[in-house]
Amino acid sequence: MRIHPLSTRVANQIAAGEVVERPASVVKELLENSLDAGARRVEVEVEGGGVRLIRVRDDGQGIHPDDLGLALSRHATSKISEVDDLAHVASLGFRGEALASIASVSRLTLTSRTEALPQGWRIEVEGSAERPPAPAAHPRGTTVEVRDLFFNTPARRKFLRTEKTEFGHIEELVRRLALARPDVTFNLSHNQRRVLELGAASGSVERDRRVAAACGQAFLEHALPVAVEAAGLHLDGWVAEPAFSRSQADLQYFFVNGRMVRDKLVGHAVRQAYKDVLYGGRHPAFVLFLTLDPERVDVNVHPTKHEVRFRDGRSVHDFLFRALHEALAGARAGRPEHQPA
Ligand code: ADP
Ligand code: MG
Repeated sequence: MRIHPLSTRVANQIAAGEVVERPASVVKELLENSLDAGARRVEVEVEGGGVRLIRVRDDGQGIHPDDLGLALSRHATSKISEVDDLAHVASLGFRGEALASIASVSRLTLTSRTEALPQGWRIEVEGSAERPPAPAAHPRGTTVEVRDLFFNTPARRKFLRTEKTEFGHIEELVRRLALARPDVTFNLSHNQRRVLELGAASGSVERDRRVAAACGQAFLEHALPVAVEAAGLHLDGWVAEPAFSRSQADLQYFFVNGRMVRDKLVGHAVRQAYKDVLYGGRHPAFVLFLTLDPERVDVNVHPTKHEVRFRDGRSVHDFLFRALHEALAGARAGRPEHQPA
């Protein structure tokens, strides 16, 4: 066979393989877009575990009607222009791939209105056929509707689990994302039933409520507060007392500049800190937020953006180890505990 370029549709479907593993991955990408658009409130409606329908509605800045088609094209983004911009990217997205990928494996409708315009506009894509935008009633903000996920990629569809399992992943994801943004309201429903209502509030009360929603009230009662700053690295959150260890690594939430990540270096630093106080086979529980200059961390490591690379990994590792070691040692020494502000 001779060489030929792949059609846009096939190229997008291949890219979708990297980003869209299951319905929860769609919800992640759509919610990240809503947060990047400055939304104060997001509504997630799911039907059939997310396979039949995922609808995310936000009150963010919206998309200009002339850009609706571009929003769905691959490598089109409003978030960066130059590769150098990656060094200080503050948005959760930047690859300009998610909507194109999702649209290539579902029936997608994008409706949006910006503040300046009197009405909203809607564009529909099915697999790859895109109809021109048409006027549609919509308040300021954006609604993305994704129906029949993987309808045209049966191989992917086969990997989906039960409706209950897929929805479980979605719920877990929304709780996770909501942890980092107590200033944003998140509502989630499944098959018309309200499952989560996380109202926005400033201050520690809402933050505690969301930690309890994600990790359970017991975690909060057995958690030691962490708030440490050194050399431009800032860590806050909670680590559970060793007595609250888990048989699985299921309550481990780590955010870097508001982005949830799974990182080997972080995992290692935490394990080291718990080494003397945790028996083999047990896993610590924690919710931690690391903040640092975006220039010190590379977020462009993997399409799902679950991984990061620290430019000075060694110092980040040592900082984390020391901060957590001290928190745990303080607890053992029976120092009076205090709640983080
Ligand atoms: P990325 O987020 O990496 O830029 P996406 O494919 O997720 O790529 O989105 C493409 C573009 O569409 C974004 O850069 C943004 O300008 C626009 N967009 C997507 N979702 C929203 C939304 N909910 N509100 C406003 N703009 C959006
Ligand atoms: Mg995006």
